[in-house]
Amino acid sequence: MLDFAAITAATPGLADGKVFLDSAGSSLPPRIVTDTVIAHLRREADIGGYRAANERFDDLAAVKTSIATLIGATPDTIALSDSATRSWADFAYSVPLRPGDRVLISGADYASNAIAALQRAAATGAVVERIPSDDTGRLDTAALANMLDERVRLVSLQHAPTNGGLVNPVAEATRIAKQAGAIVLLDACQSIGQLPIDVIELGVDALSATGRKWLRGPRGTGFLYVRNELAHTMEPARLDLHSATWTGPTDYRLADGAQRFEFWECDVAARLGLGAAVDYLLELGPDEAYAAVAAGAEYLREAMADLTGVTVRDLGTEHSGIVSFTVDGHDPDQLRDRLAEHAVTVTVSRATSALLDMTERALPAILRASPHYFVSRSDLDRFVATLATLTQR
Ligand SMILES: *Cc1c(COP(=O)(O)O)cnc(C)c1O
Repeated sequence: MLDFAAITAATPGLADGKVFLDSAGSSLPPRIVTDTVIAHLRREADIGGYRAANERFDDLAAVKTSIATLIGATPDTIALSDSATRSWADFAYSVPLRPGDRVLISGADYASNAIAALQRAAATGAVVERIPSDDTGRLDTAALANMLDERVRLVSLQHAPTNGGLVNPVAEATRIAKQAGAIVLLDACQSIGQLPIDVIELGVDALSATGRKWLRGPRGTGFLYVRNELAHTMEPARLDLHSATWTGPTDYRLADGAQRFEFWECDVAARLGLGAAVDYLLELGPDEAYAAVAAGAEYLREAMADLTGVTVRDLGTEHSGIVSFTVDGHDPDQLRDRLAEHAVTVTVSRATSALLDMTERALPAILRASPHYFVSRSDLDRFVATLATLTQR
């Protein structure tokens, strides 16, 4: 069991009694995260960024160890970056594509991934194709199996999408895609920190994730995991003196492992903050945290089901901590703003964030409530009561 009182006390953002339901957007960090970032910024101001970083050399290395522990990997397979999108692109732009090659994305794919895939395809003569969804809205693994051939180079999988509570069968999809020789890149942005992730069990080649969402880390943080044997065969699209070493007038040597996907300059304070966020989760007990997120979201779905005109829109058979919904006769943006007036934070996901899925369901926008484990049942009740006041008559 999580110690709810201790968690609340360790989260300054909860002190004013607001109902915070946006951990899928940018969560409230624990105090240790903010303190770690600020302390390092002050130290940089005091003695300069280089000496300040040197003092935390071991702690910076430990950030990768902590992330690796959380996802069942080793530290040398982790490349830190400033966002999930950066990490996804760093990897995807480094997969060699030739005319006629195929890149598969799914209905739930995040806009930034799809846009990058389309640009790469246009530049190389490859094509981007969509993996169909099954009746429940999950990625259809049988359809994926039928699409695969030797021209499929890259399969982009979405563990949990940005715009709803869907969880995709990524382990099975990965197994099928890898049998056909494709490279599998998993977007774990909405699953890291709220769903169990074991990269070896999942079998993925690479994974991208962000720090500020369910991990409760600082903004401007993210990371890439790349399977070791694969990393050694890849030439990243861009290099610097950290991802490679200048060995002669016409030569350079790539760094080992995932480091070849990492640039030298970075926000050291933010990285230390990310490490603090992951350590906080590891100490809390990831499994307890994941169970609490799932239970809270399920509680909310059930409570919302009683409201007239409110439709919970979560696809699939197994759900993440995102509760997506629409309300008949209410514009999502206006409703979000009215809720904000009552100290309730929810966000709106637009069709342009997950175009294929939203277009298919004819949804221009959808409200998104994403309660983390730190949101109490009474706060969820308050949200539902507020929503009722604003929408029921
Ligand atoms: C937020 C999000 C991203 C992008 O993460 P950034 O850190 O903002 O780059 C990618 N995929 C999904 C599913 C997301 O929800």
